[in-house]
Amino acid sequence: MNSQSLFKQHFQHSAVSSSEAHGRVNLIGEHTDYNKGFVLPTLIEQKIEVSLSPRLDSKIVGISEEFGEKTVISDSNTDGTWIDFVRGALYYMAKEGQLIKGLNIAVASSIPTGSGLSSSAALEIAILRALCQMVGYELSSTKIAKIGQLIEHNFIGTFCGIMDQMSSSKSKFGQVLFLDCENLNTEIVPIFEDYTFIIIHSGSTRKLSEGLYNERKRETEIATKFLSISSLRYAEISDLNIIKDPKIFRRARHVITENDRVLKAVQFLKDNNAQAFGNLMNESHISMDKDYEISSPELNHIVKTAQSYGALGARLTGAGFGGCTVVLSSNNRRDNIIKKILEHCPKSYLVTNIGQNIAPSKNE
Ligand code: ADP
Ligand code: MG
Repeated sequence: MNSQSLFKQHFQHSAVSSSEAHGRVNLIGEHTDYNKGFVLPTLIEQKIEVSLSPRLDSKIVGISEEFGEKTVISDSNTDGTWIDFVRGALYYMAKEGQLIKGLNIAVASSIPTGSGLSSSAALEIAILRALCQMVGYELSSTKIAKIGQLIEHNFIGTFCGIMDQMSSSKSKFGQVLFLDCENLNTEIVPIFEDYTFIIIHSGSTRKLSEGLYNERKRETEIATKFLSISSLRYAEISDLNIIKDPKIFRRARHVITENDRVLKAVQFLKDNNAQAFGNLMNESHISMDKDYEISSPELNHIVKTAQSYGALGARLTGAGFGGCTVVLSSNNRRDNIIKKILEHCPKSYLVTNIGQNIAPSKNE
């Protein structure tokens, strides 16, 4: 059901504003964003839609197809449920001078949650877009992304970087967003012509606010303290010898090598060199498995199966600890690779394919 129908069914009247935002898949550059590094996401067709109307009292009454009903008083408290995203959005709209007393909201989504496809950022962006539309207020796509990140930090408790929000707010279909997470400079690069990125879910999910993500962030902060630098963006492998803790050493090595891989991957994308791009994806997966320790047996199994049936590259995507893989294949091998993965990895399922000829043609 779309969010407008859900809204009408639940609240018995039509919504006054509706908006949407897409999920994203990161092609390479994992856990580099909060280290002020480089990332390379692109949109997926799956999206979150929200419909809203203002209320005269100060309640937030929400219905999510997936997460159920919730009624709270609109304040800056949190209770660990999805309605915290709405509380956060209202809080930051008020900071923009847009005081919204209460709200009815319906949420419908096709993005698998807790899977590395960034349902949380899509939810933030969709709510903020719909609120802006409702009150007739304009926020730039970068400002919306920054507010989304603040909601995530201060109302959800996930101390994420800016990739997910920038991607969901700024990207367009069929194009890859090369983002520098230090200065938010972006460059749009077209996706490969004769190759497909296949997104396969491992069948297991995780909730980022439950701690492992923040733990990795803390570990990289420890590394920067050892190295007396502001972020790992400014470190080189040869600097790491002074870090005696082997775990912190490995975490830092992942970030440094991953940043380097993103820079090379952008060039390979521009050169239409899918083979070399795929090799970087394979290296990235090993680094995430061994150095950053964010993979899982299911993710490793999908990656190995994809590689053994002729994929050019395969890696887990998103924060890890479950969720999705991204596989790069030539268009003519694509269907067989998908078939073999689904056969060999029983919990896995196909989320979407991304390529020039199969990407949805319009941005929302
Ligand atoms: P990811 O962003 O990778 O999907 P997160 O753990 O960051 O995973 O965010 C998932 C959380 O986002 C969910 O637990 C829920 O609070 C919120 N969320 C996602 N989709 C919806 C939805 N359709 N309705 C309500 N809340 C949602
Ligand atoms: Mg998220």
